[in-house]
Amino acid sequence: MPRILLLLPTKTYRATDFLEAATRLGVEVTVASEEKNVLESQNPAGYLWFNFEDLDSCQQSVLEFARKYPLAAVLGMDEKTMVAAAAVSEALHLKSNSVESVKTCRDKHLMRKCLKAGGLVTPPFCAFPITADVRQISLEMAYPCVLKPTRLSASQGVIRVNDSGEFVSAWERLKNIIESAKTSPEILVEEFIPGKEVALEGLLENGELSMLALFDKPDPLDGPFFEETIYVQPSRLPDDLQRAIFACTQKAVSALGLTTGPIHAELRVNQEGPWMIEVAARPIGGRCSRALRFGLDMSLEEVILRQALSLKAPPGFLNLKANPSGVMMIPISKAGVLKEISGLKQAKEVSGVEEIIVNMPVGSLLTPLPEGSHYLGFIIARGKTPGEVEGSLRKAHRCLEINIKGEKIHEQDPLQQTNEIW
Ligand code: ADP
Ligand code: CA
Repeated sequence: MPRILLLLPTKTYRATDFLEAATRLGVEVTVASEEKNVLESQNPAGYLWFNFEDLDSCQQSVLEFARKYPLAAVLGMDEKTMVAAAAVSEALHLKSNSVESVKTCRDKHLMRKCLKAGGLVTPPFCAFPITADVRQISLEMAYPCVLKPTRLSASQGVIRVNDSGEFVSAWERLKNIIESAKTSPEILVEEFIPGKEVALEGLLENGELSMLALFDKPDPLDGPFFEETIYVQPSRLPDDLQRAIFACTQKAVSALGLTTGPIHAELRVNQEGPWMIEVAARPIGGRCSRALRFGLDMSLEEVILRQALSLKAPPGFLNLKANPSGVMMIPISKAGVLKEISGLKQAKEVSGVEEIIVNMPVGSLLTPLPEGSHYLGFIIARGKTPGEVEGSLRKAHRCLEINIKGEKIHEQDPLQQTNEIW
């Protein structure tokens, strides 16, 4: 039986979907994380641990491990583990993206420079250290524009501003977010691109892109913060625009040097055509992948594992166009402690709703955007048409009554997860 190595960030709820897919395929799994697992001594083939930032030591540990337990594939799951997965795969001579290409995707400024050099339509952009003279910079900007940290995700810290006053306040707010998250102290500023937004889920093989799903995001994303809500597929955009979106994504992955495995791309479309917002060298985040069910009830995770192991699924099985589906990321409306979510039963009974996943337990401290980086949960729905799916998601969400109490007292430390709040 082939064995795969999964690199898991310590806090993830996604592992189960990969482990289920591995079981279905009859594949052995070793899980590597950053904290020592208590079960390691009982199952030495099952667990590994190392610091994902120290690529040399990741490679050493895995080379040693693989001498005893040969590995057929190594997969990362998010921005952090993707780079380590590429480094380890390179050391083992396994099919993988280059470390450089994955590092480029991890840094929004590097990615913008690379996309521009690759000939993609790019908004004007510039990056600054957080210590830069914000007042001076604010006078030189064109508005509206978007400020974002170069190395966070899930729209954390992404803020649209319309004038120099807003620019200065957003900068100060972002500075706190960057300091709390201990991330790269750099702010990327880009011109705001108006338009509708889509997300393309794809799979690369030898640099060639196949589209697994194209999601519309029917709620407007005009800022000041960019909270994701509804994703519905197949897209209702005209076919020629969908082809242009695909071509733009293929051009972007080629520019970035990505060659294999899953990608998640986000684009805006307006009268000038598609604009790449970003490409991530990983599948869609959170539990959103549960909206995608391929032929033979294959999950996205199974499709990814199959590709990594060169166990190709028959091509017809990857066509989702006849199966409209969607997901709603349940937004966090205000800061405070989650007291109760009522109406779950009614929401689950809404026609077309398949599953509701609440991933924040009662008592959790909830932090909305731009400081926060998580969602309360996910609603998954299917239907005969994308419109029907969208309707089910909205109706189910309206059934939910989310009781959040109190304000944070740690204004300086918005990312802290404690219960010290009233
Ligand atoms: P993250 O990695 O945190 O998701 P993104 O760069 O994808 O960061 O930005 C998050 C969201 O903010 C995007 O999905 C989009 O809606 C919005 N956004 C980001 N940059 C721009 C831009 N230049 N113009 C318009 N909207 C933008
Ligand atoms: Ca994004």
